[in-house]
Amino acid sequence: VIEVGTPERVVKTTCAYCGVGCSFDAHMRGETVVKMVPSKDGKANRGHSCVKGRFAWGYATHAERILNPMIREDYRDPWRVVSWEEAIRFAADRLRATQERHGRDSVGVITSSRCTNEETYLVQKLARAVFGNNNTDTCARVCHSPTGYGLKTAFGTSAGTHDFDSVEETDLALVIGANPTEGHPVFGSRLRRRLREGAGLIVIDPRHIDLLDTAHRNDAIHLPLLPGTNVAVLTAMAHVIAAEGLYDEAFICERCDWDEFLEYRDFLLDPRHSPEEVERQSNVPADLIRQAARAYAAAPRASIYYGLGVTEHSQGSTTVMAIANLAMMTGNIGKPGTGVNPLRGQNNVQGSCDMGSFPHEFPGYRHVTDIETRKLYEQVWGVPLSDEPGLRIPNMFDAATQGRFKGLYCQGEDVLQSDPDTSHVQSALASLDILIVHDLFLNETSNYAHVFLPGSSFLEKDGTFTNAERRINMVRKAMTPKNGYADWEITVMLANALDAGWDYSHPSEIMDEIALTTPSFAGVSYDLLDREQSVQWPCNAKAPLGTPVMHIEGFVRGKGKFINTEYVPSEERTGGRFPLLLTTGRTLTQYNVGAQTRRTDNTVWHPEDVLEIHPHDAEQRGIREGDYVRVASRAGDTTIRAKITERVAPGVVYTTFHHPNTQANVVTTDNSDWATNCPEFKVTAVQVSPSNGP
Ligand code: SF4
Repeated sequence: VIEVGTPERVVKTTCAYCGVGCSFDAHMRGETVVKMVPSKDGKANRGHSCVKGRFAWGYATHAERILNPMIREDYRDPWRVVSWEEAIRFAADRLRATQERHGRDSVGVITSSRCTNEETYLVQKLARAVFGNNNTDTCARVCHSPTGYGLKTAFGTSAGTHDFDSVEETDLALVIGANPTEGHPVFGSRLRRRLREGAGLIVIDPRHIDLLDTAHRNDAIHLPLLPGTNVAVLTAMAHVIAAEGLYDEAFICERCDWDEFLEYRDFLLDPRHSPEEVERQSNVPADLIRQAARAYAAAPRASIYYGLGVTEHSQGSTTVMAIANLAMMTGNIGKPGTGVNPLRGQNNVQGSCDMGSFPHEFPGYRHVTDIETRKLYEQVWGVPLSDEPGLRIPNMFDAATQGRFKGLYCQGEDVLQSDPDTSHVQSALASLDILIVHDLFLNETSNYAHVFLPGSSFLEKDGTFTNAERRINMVRKAMTPKNGYADWEITVMLANALDAGWDYSHPSEIMDEIALTTPSFAGVSYDLLDREQSVQWPCNAKAPLGTPVMHIEGFVRGKGKFINTEYVPSEERTGGRFPLLLTTGRTLTQYNVGAQTRRTDNTVWHPEDVLEIHPHDAEQRGIREGDYVRVASRAGDTTIRAKITERVAPGVVYTTFHHPNTQANVVTTDNSDWATNCPEFKVTAVQVSPSNGP
């Protein structure tokens, strides 16, 4: 399947799937990939890869890929294939007319965590400098926006604190809401190796994950909590550490505010945070909570790794801050083997956030009301800029249904399939005067589009991705764009049709502009990246070769900040009509909604999604292995096959969401994180009943 001829050249690039950011050598023959070989000198993967990066690149040449631009007057009309010139002119004219009719703030953009830093930078610049507003948001809104908020609040910067190499020095890994061997396989293997060498393991997850089965780890601690109770359990662990005096007083005195810690300690010592009380809320035995707290506090170097099981909750941001509290109170930050490390799901989640995709922040996480920063961008971009924060994705949809938001440029993101409350998103998209979808394939969102701009795959362009450890990796063009243009060129064409006057001739020039305007990228250039393979930001005069471990001498914000993390139960409670809690995750061979992996041979390994249900719950409902079941919530229902397993606890059901048959977001509700609007994908009260099939 893979080998098709003898390679003529090798192009070093970066995997476009998960946030591990593995380096690959693309062995090319003409315009054809002969094979993808993980690079031995790849700093994130050191010659290793998983089945996605190594084998699942065939979507780039899949027959369903759209290669010509298309337009239509109304989304119900058939598509008309047109030239690039006509498509860009049509899109620009409609955007201009929409702003003339409905005002400057009636249009916006959604950037993608799948695209390069340079492409993302240009799309947010389009909103700010050309549309004249801050209506720019990223698909990270629905995954790691609480990471940005929580870590910035606690430490002063919206990023993981440590490099992957740091895992080699950890004595104990606390993994919460993540399944690294399936979701981040190459890092998962490194972690597994470290566990085999003797490091301890705490897993906080409603489901039994494979890491727990790692050989020689009979003493691994699993806290199988009910979905939605992360904050209660983490705060109870902190309660134990506070009550038993297991905190690192010297670290707290030096790196945090001692008086603030004392207030936090008073908060923790309230009996409502005791393990016994939390056992009632979370179903986790109090003794296990105590055991986990003592193990984490006692480890000389303990690290925390987390994923979307932390962020996609109504208390996602609070959970991130509860994690930061644990690390600070035990001194597990700022030295190798420790840290707080979000495992980013998509290849460039970190980068899309770094590049200013948020409606309140310029690149480098500087607020739009910051006068000095705005002045700098006004000078470099040559236009006045708005100081009013723009709309987040859910606010765009709300404003659209209210007739206040009428135009959207959506790059590399199928919002209709990825965002919660499908019918609301549908109504919003249907009400737009202009929807431009820029993607590889027609998708659910493009059903409502007026312009389809065919995108280029990672094999067809130059640029950079930033992985979960802040590592800026090069993406290099291995073949000519099949659609005619790299994505950054398409955004430039659109901007120039709106009189922007941009004159970039290569992504390296975009990176030069990023370096000029973003302090944490000040030292980054393509020359440096070519020479060093990759660097981790901050990369500037103080750290010319980058920064593997952050917060070594002090936190970016000065003193680390403790936050009282009060547990607030999710609105999704079980009982009555919906007695079970549904949570979701990923499997090794597939990726997100499957737009890419389902168009590769990887499909043979996971041909459909299934619903995992505990034998007790299945028996109560007369459900047998492989039966179709109906999963119903207050938002909607879907039909899926059942898999009976003790991996999930009684009362909890679980599914992946890689295939359209799952329709997971028809069932998920519109609850979201209080601080960032990140949807609560991980907790939905449902009923499961036998069904005759879809
Ligand atoms: Fe790609 Fe992630 Fe697999 Fe590495 S671990 S090959 S980055 S999907």
